[in-house]
Amino acid sequence: MLKNLLCYLSFILITIPVPAQNDVQRNISQINGNLYRFQNNFHYSVFLVTEEGVIATDPINAEAAQWLNNEIKTRFGQPVKYLIYSHHHADHVSGGEVFADDGATVIAHINAAQALIDDNVATALPAITFQQSMTLELGGQRVELTYLGKNHSDNSVVAYFPAEKTLFAVDFVSTRRLPYKTISRSYFPEYFQAFDKLEQMEFEILAPGHGDLGSKRDALEHGEYLKELYQSVKAAVESGNSLEEIKQSLTLEKYSGWSQFDAWRKENIEGIYGYLTN
Ligand SMILES: [Zn+2]
Repeated sequence: MLKNLLCYLSFILITIPVPAQNDVQRNISQINGNLYRFQNNFHYSVFLVTEEGVIATDPINAEAAQWLNNEIKTRFGQPVKYLIYSHHHADHVSGGEVFADDGATVIAHINAAQALIDDNVATALPAITFQQSMTLELGGQRVELTYLGKNHSDNSVVAYFPAEKTLFAVDFVSTRRLPYKTISRSYFPEYFQAFDKLEQMEFEILAPGHGDLGSKRDALEHGEYLKELYQSVKAAVESGNSLEEIKQSLTLEKYSGWSQFDAWRKENIEGIYGYLTN
């Protein structure tokens, strides 16, 4: 009886959202195995718990990082040993100093190091950088980091957790959700290479930086959406259509069930139009 109750209590500790100050929505949920997902409002990262410490990813911001650092210590009794940045954008990787000052080693793509400085992002700079790929081992567990080329940034990396068959991938892909507004600061058509590479990878669960968890199929469908959007806008521009005409005619109805479809479809078109005409 008591054992059952303790199991129940530990289940609650892992899964029930913990209210944070100022109505910030913060939550830790188990993805599977030793891998957990951290939510801070509309941003998400993941962390892997091992017997020799924790491998964390995007700190999101200093307050979120402070909260997460304390929660990890309290719940799992382990310090964060490594902190991986998905890419250099401030809304995902601010606050890295919270972990770095507490002993974590920061890892990022080589291009992120300079981009963080150029963008004046308030975070710790990476101590370890890599160009194409890197395997990280801790406590008998493994994380594989891979650069898929230029897409949403020139330094976006994915983190694959083989034991959990889960891929952490931020901003350049999401689950049945449109790309953010005008898809700014991205690289087209280089972007599409990422999906060819994702197809080769063995993950089953997609853990994006925004929105719901998904599958590998969802990740590839995001690529199909982007290709259709890009090719349709390109064809319409080549036929002499104006931006307003394209916004009217390109309904992308196949994707009307996706989140943010009504909010961002026209901005997505506007963004691609900008890449093709500027
Ligand atoms: Zn971003």
